[in-house]
Amino acid sequence: MTLNLKYFFFISVGLVGCYFFNQGYEKLIFPNNELLNNKFSFQNIEDKKENLDVELNEILEKNIEKKSKLKLNKIEIIVKEGNTFFSILNNFNLTDKLIFEIINEIEKFLDLKKLKTNDKIYFYQNENNEIKKIEFNLDIENKLILNIDNEIYIKKKKLDKKFYEISKEFIIFESLYSDGIKNKLPQDILIKLIKMFSFDLDFQRDIRKNTKVSVSYEYNEIIETNKIEYKDINYAQITIGSNTLEYFKFLTDAGYYDYFNREGKNVKKSILKTPLDGARLSSNFGMRKHPISGYNKMHKGVDFAAPKGTPIYAGGNGVIEFVGTNGGYGKYIRIRHNNEYKTAYAHLSKFNKGITKGARVNQGDVIGFVGSTGISTGPHLHYEILFQNKHINPLKLKLPSGKTLEGKELKRFKKSYKEILANHLNLLYE
Ligand SMILES: [Zn+2]
Repeated sequence: MTLNLKYFFFISVGLVGCYFFNQGYEKLIFPNNELLNNKFSFQNIEDKKENLDVELNEILEKNIEKKSKLKLNKIEIIVKEGNTFFSILNNFNLTDKLIFEIINEIEKFLDLKKLKTNDKIYFYQNENNEIKKIEFNLDIENKLILNIDNEIYIKKKKLDKKFYEISKEFIIFESLYSDGIKNKLPQDILIKLIKMFSFDLDFQRDIRKNTKVSVSYEYNEIIETNKIEYKDINYAQITIGSNTLEYFKFLTDAGYYDYFNREGKNVKKSILKTPLDGARLSSNFGMRKHPISGYNKMHKGVDFAAPKGTPIYAGGNGVIEFVGTNGGYGKYIRIRHNNEYKTAYAHLSKFNKGITKGARVNQGDVIGFVGSTGISTGPHLHYEILFQNKHINPLKLKLPSGKTLEGKELKRFKKSYKEILANHLNLLYE
């Protein structure tokens, strides 16, 4: 916006300059218009002058408009403990009627009760100390703008973003994580990278000194707030000795983003054995005395003890088949991965947003959070894998190998991976 204003200013100055130059020039070459015999050219100049007058007027009008906008004084309010939006509005000179209307409009987009300490609200005052505009940051991508004139106009606006792609390469001396941090790899990307490699590598055993890592990823910078939003890894490579693993991001015909090696083989195994981080196995699959009923009963899944709120990942790509309360399972999700495999997650404290029946999820997406709903003795995840609708022991699951691209899809992939690789090398060595 400031940039636009700047351009506008320069163009205005330029045009006004042109106008005066033209007028002076006219006087210079036609000191006395009456003396001119050539009616045609006289007419022509008058036309031009009129055109310029119109343009100049338009510019002046726009300038006045911009000026009145520019004159708004921006006030940043940081929400403090105990503040409500009402109490904040009360600090400004507003009528009760206007306060009511403002709150009413904003509540259509935003639950003002959820206003948090340190949230920022921007008020814009004109020279008479009247509030003309209020802005909220809704989330990382959107803001809410409320304009107050004779009426209130409210709109949600997507913040402008700048897209970046970046490549990095480094040697592991200590560990993937610590050397990644040393090489300024953002933590978000590093976690994705570790997850990606963890299907193929045992970090303790496989990673040796002088392992080389090469990665290319995307991020957005939200211009107004300077916030960074990390996106996907496009390419990753890890070289241990003479062994190289590569991962190329690719949108499959089925509509999933997934990672494949150069041969078009999916590098992800189809189902995670442990769909959460930092969990401890607390009860295995098989016959056991039920901790609540006391009866001997088949335990059809495995239990992972983890603190309440620990994110639970989708065990594989698939479609949400069930989400809701399911008897003793409490809050429960079931994902259908393909014709043969399903996974189920029980006792959740809550579901992640966007997890609805029929929603498509990718392996590793957060679907919900650990809790203790239903018949449960404490926060844990009860995890089941169903193969042809029969429960199997997740820990003994023989992982079926991932999909291999074929035919047209493979052809499309090969074109895509070459572009990704060329881009990556360009970014590394430019
Ligand atoms: Zn269980």
